Amino acid sequence: MTNGLTHAPTAPLSGPDVSAWSAVLSAMPIPAALVTCSGDVIATNRWLDFVPGERLLHATSCAGEVDAPLRFGVNDSRWRVRPVDDNGQVLLATGEREDAGDHLLRKFFSSGDSLFVVYDQAGLVIESNSAWETLLGYTSDEVFGLDSWSLLPDDDLKTRAAVEHDLRTHGRAETNFKMRTANGTYRLIRWALHFDMSVGRCFGIGRDVTEEGKITAELERRAFHDELTGLGNRAQLIERLDGILASGGSPSLLFCDLDRFKIVNDSLGHQAGDTLLTKLAERLASVDLGDDALLARFGGDEFVVLLEHGGDARAQQAAGRLLDNLVDPFTVATRLIHISMSIGISSADLSPHRTAQGLLGDADTAAYEAKKQGRKRWIVFDEQLRSAAERRLDVETGLRRALTEGLIQPHFQPIVSLPDGRITGAEALVRWQAADRLIGPGEFLDVAEDAGLMPALGRSVITGAIRAAALLVARDATFQMSINVSDPELKVPGFCELLDQEVRAAGLDPSSFLIEITESAVLATDSALPVLRNLRAAGFRLGLDDFGTGFSSLAHLRELPIDVVKVDRSFVADLVGDPVTHAVTASLVRLCHALGLDVIMEGIETAQQAAASEEIGGSVAQGHLFHRAMPFADLESLLDAERSACAENGALTGH
Ligand code: C2E
Ligand code: MG
Ligand code: MG
Repeated sequence: MTNGLTHAPTAPLSGPDVSAWSAVLSAMPIPAALVTCSGDVIATNRWLDFVPGERLLHATSCAGEVDAPLRFGVNDSRWRVRPVDDNGQVLLATGEREDAGDHLLRKFFSSGDSLFVVYDQAGLVIESNSAWETLLGYTSDEVFGLDSWSLLPDDDLKTRAAVEHDLRTHGRAETNFKMRTANGTYRLIRWALHFDMSVGRCFGIGRDVTEEGKITAELERRAFHDELTGLGNRAQLIERLDGILASGGSPSLLFCDLDRFKIVNDSLGHQAGDTLLTKLAERLASVDLGDDALLARFGGDEFVVLLEHGGDARAQQAAGRLLDNLVDPFTVATRLIHISMSIGISSADLSPHRTAQGLLGDADTAAYEAKKQGRKRWIVFDEQLRSAAERRLDVETGLRRALTEGLIQPHFQPIVSLPDGRITGAEALVRWQAADRLIGPGEFLDVAEDAGLMPALGRSVITGAIRAAALLVARDATFQMSINVSDPELKVPGFCELLDQEVRAAGLDPSSFLIEITESAVLATDSALPVLRNLRAAGFRLGLDDFGTGFSSLAHLRELPIDVVKVDRSFVADLVGDPVTHAVTASLVRLCHALGLDVIMEGIETAQQAAASEEIGGSVAQGHLFHRAMPFADLESLLDAERSACAENGALTGH
């Protein structure tokens, strides 16, 4: 039998160095270490799969799989040291004396890539191997007597204290140290250290993990930093916040939500949006908010400032400085862009929450409120906001239930022609029939949007509107049913196809429907435009709703595939009494007509507004002056009444 094990010596090796090394070895991540007892493998370190009692031969084949230039075995109880060569042959000759094992072990230690070291009680090196020279550039003479802590940079001193503590209390420690090489650079060494109290020696094996360290550092950097802006990211923010809260600190958060960034992003393109975000991040980072401040990018257009030592007054002051810093515009792709933020502030000392999630949620809620109150401001989270947030949650819960119970239905506001007020169509407007009252979209639409319920809500309205249209078009083939469609609905795959199917299944033609969209819905997604084109190709008419609010662009009138423009009621409200608005609205209507677009004047409340609308060419209108939104049955009665009035008139006039 040529397996070296059968000839292995049985006389135990001894000596303090050997025993201490064995303990170190068992903790070491060196590729393969075997522990044998009378030729049987009884343990290996964690790099070898091993079944107790199996022969070394098996272990050797395992060792072959791991790339293991250095192999040896140590038996804890009887000090069997078994270096093996690449073929698993034991190198120790039969009958060799005890100290020969020690000698061979030294030979092993002096070879290979790992650093070996023995310190005395004063922490000075008394033994080392040649890897100190190959890896770190120090000769054995230079290493001898060296206080090797002196090779660590100052910022590793904390780690040193922890290691010394571990060695004192547990007799062992594992850690990474940056060590200065002879040429002044640093290498990252993973050390396994063992302190043997009986001999007052510390033994260590070190593996160069500089490359691994670089990769780990890069992974960490990526995990904790935002790629685009280089700022800390959400993970870093939460980790830091958790740490501050756990140590009993009182941090404040400033949740900064950019105002209307989405529109800038969508109109100028994502690349310009990214440039703007990068410049903005630089601008925000340049504001001196104190050494304890962390600025992180939380999400798309959301930034969060964490003040470790917070407090309401300081946080508000910081918010003011951030906003002041945005007064000057940014230059992106030769354009000047003004951008502002809505900031929500939450402070641990004012909150019952002591969790990162709780504080972030509060700050987010306050930012949302700042937006609602007109943007470009900060709001401090308080109990009132908390109850408002709770109400929103109640609304969401109620809305979900209402959707499943069929309580979300459209009402219909007639659209009339001027000057006779004849009903030419109706707009389906969503209503929630609660147990005690009818609720309008103003109370739940934004909640539905945030909760992702718009597609479900839209379906209820669309189904109701198609059902109503089937009856109304049967009475009057020219009847137009308007349906509002939001951005999230347009994004639902197959939206156009489904709508087309439903309409045709009801025996209707898509041209009986006006699909109302807003500019922001079109701008919000790149994918909206193809859907609109499909809708139009299928025969639906498209209307641009609320034109004149927000970022309205005359270019859109030319570029978007639309048939109708609904002039927002803010124009109509000032049509009488404000000559400028009158002139602008008149030009707008003229332009629409010139482009072949129909115009609907929205929100007509007075006879003067109706007259002014008609005078500037707006001959189709909608507003409380004529009719409010009503249930389908009321609309039917209204149409019946209109028809009989018409018939009566016809009879009177002989038509
Ligand atoms: P909108 O599409 O511009 O609808 C017109 C809104 O103005 C309706 O409010 C209507 O009741 C109101 N209105 C009509 N005439 C007058 C008037 O003379 N004076 C005043 N002050 N208001 C008038 P409503 O029903 O509260 O709807 C508000 C908005 O909610 C709608 O504005 C639309 O953007 C949205 N919405 C309503 N239903 C739906 C829906 O089913 N789906 C989607 N996506 N959005 C909807
Ligand atoms: Mg509308
Ligand atoms: Mg409108």
